[in-house]
Amino acid sequence: MGRIVVEPLSVLSDNYVWLLREPETGATAAVDPAVAEPVLDALARLGWSLTHVLATHHHHDHIGGIPTLKKETGCTVVGARADAHRIPGLDVPVGEGDLFMLGAAAVRVMEVPGHTIGHLAFWVPDSAALFCGDTLFTLGCGRLFEGTAEQMWASLTRLRRLPGDTMVYCGHEYTQSNARFARTVERDNEALKRRVSGVDALRARGLPTVPGRLDDENETNPFLRADQPGVARAVGMEPGSDPARVFAELRRRKDVF
Ligand code: ZN
Ligand code: FE
Repeated sequence: MGRIVVEPLSVLSDNYVWLLREPETGATAAVDPAVAEPVLDALARLGWSLTHVLATHHHHDHIGGIPTLKKETGCTVVGARADAHRIPGLDVPVGEGDLFMLGAAAVRVMEVPGHTIGHLAFWVPDSAALFCGDTLFTLGCGRLFEGTAEQMWASLTRLRRLPGDTMVYCGHEYTQSNARFARTVERDNEALKRRVSGVDALRARGLPTVPGRLDDENETNPFLRADQPGVARAVGMEPGSDPARVFAELRRRKDVF
């Protein structure tokens, strides 16, 4: 019931706008429309009409297209209640645990603060799809612009507990540069080595590396692995250290990598 189809749209230098379609009803959402024109063009090409915008957070490269999309299509804008003052045209303010329908598809809202305080993730359980903006990236995570390392670690540990077959649709194509950092943290992680080869092969052909499977993230993304002894050691901390502190040190090192 209510499974969605997802179409990627690559905009600006490395942003993804995800176009979601629930075929039974034709409900169609754009997640994080940085710009409007490419979204309108893609919708015209696909023959889809926009009914919703889902905003994970208020950064301009995620909401820039909202005013024009709303004017052109009359779509309903869904975003964080906490960010009502900074998401343009917000129609449906949502928060932790809320469920809303995209046509026949149920979408669950998770509050995942860290990158920003109001950051949301949209989980579509029946389609095993997670739209997580700039919180969890394939092989990485977002910078801490507003939240603390403790908040981000708590957000990431919630995301990593979703079913392993969940596909992670993040906001940017950063996998290859994230992989370079990940390799410095876990040199002996065989799953990571294999994944990096796969990522390099895709990028060599100009293909997207997103989405990734959550169970692959759990095995290879250092920011989901701050409670692994080897990851603590890699940042000069005792195995068994508070994972939020290990995570903080990982994030600090990535910021200057
Ligand atoms: Zn952002
Ligand atoms: Fe972003």
